[in-house]
Amino acid sequence: MQPALDVLVREVGLRDGLQSLPTPLPTSAKLAWIRAEAAAGVREIEVTSFVPAKLLPQFADAEQVVEQSLLVPGLQVVALVPNLRGAQRALALGVPKLDYVVSVSRTHNLKNVRREREASLEDFRGIVQARDAAGRRQTTTLAAGLSTALGCSYEGRIAVDEVRRCAAFLAEAGAQEILVADTVGYGDPGQVREVFRAVLAETAGIPVAAHFHDTRGLGLANVLAALECGIRRFDASLGGLGGCPYAPGASGNIVTEDLVFMLDSMGLRTGIDIERLLAVREQAAQHLGAGQMHGALARAGLPLHYQAARSGGRLH
Ligand code: ZN
Repeated sequence: MQPALDVLVREVGLRDGLQSLPTPLPTSAKLAWIRAEAAAGVREIEVTSFVPAKLLPQFADAEQVVEQSLLVPGLQVVALVPNLRGAQRALALGVPKLDYVVSVSRTHNLKNVRREREASLEDFRGIVQARDAAGRRQTTTLAAGLSTALGCSYEGRIAVDEVRRCAAFLAEAGAQEILVADTVGYGDPGQVREVFRAVLAETAGIPVAAHFHDTRGLGLANVLAALECGIRRFDASLGGLGGCPYAPGASGNIVTEDLVFMLDSMGLRTGIDIERLLAVREQAAQHLGAGQMHGALARAGLPLHYQAARSGGRLH
């Protein structure tokens, strides 16, 4: 049995990070990254996205990546599914957890999947039915994500009430986890408290996870605000891989190793070995290019007391 965790850190670099890169990462490099990060203690990895390969060639190898990832011991394999067709591809492979995403911003949803938000919300019911019809009700968890929940680069501020209504709809439709995403890094800690409290009030009994981008430097501050609300599941990307192709220099998701370092320093158990995680980052950087990687811990190194703890001393 795996030891208990206080906080689940979920790696999304292979999906959210890679989707903004123009050149596909070779399948073998993706798999090496997944295996090494799982070996470092990361329990959940979003390994790919079941979007049509003609839209995102980066994920043309989705089937292969999933099949090989399912063989990694102790790893919860997650795949993003943008629609029913994607969900059917994932269900056929027996993916144990699917992430379906709707934008709270109507404009972003239209631009992203060319559908009205309400139609996208309704589509989630179809995915629940497809999962159940495939006999996978007990074996495939359906998570539902709310992107642009803390702001949108087309619409600006998003009303908390809109986020709350979308969360309530998805919870009622059968979501087993609600993921609240600050897709463009607009959120601040005060807003995080307001939005997560509103979502938690609508989703009693369903885990709520947070997905932050560090675009404006508030990523870890937002994590702390969400922790204070009781959130215990966070997405992050190794080396903060990702960003926006239209905003040069903008960083992507919060940095996995910086997040683990913060939680670890606070005495919260993540199950992840920070030194091994830093080694995985080095390995991934060889394929991705050091210029793609962000993060403070890799730049500054571990504090002295961490090194002392590794040689038998105490962490605190
Ligand atoms: Zn994201």
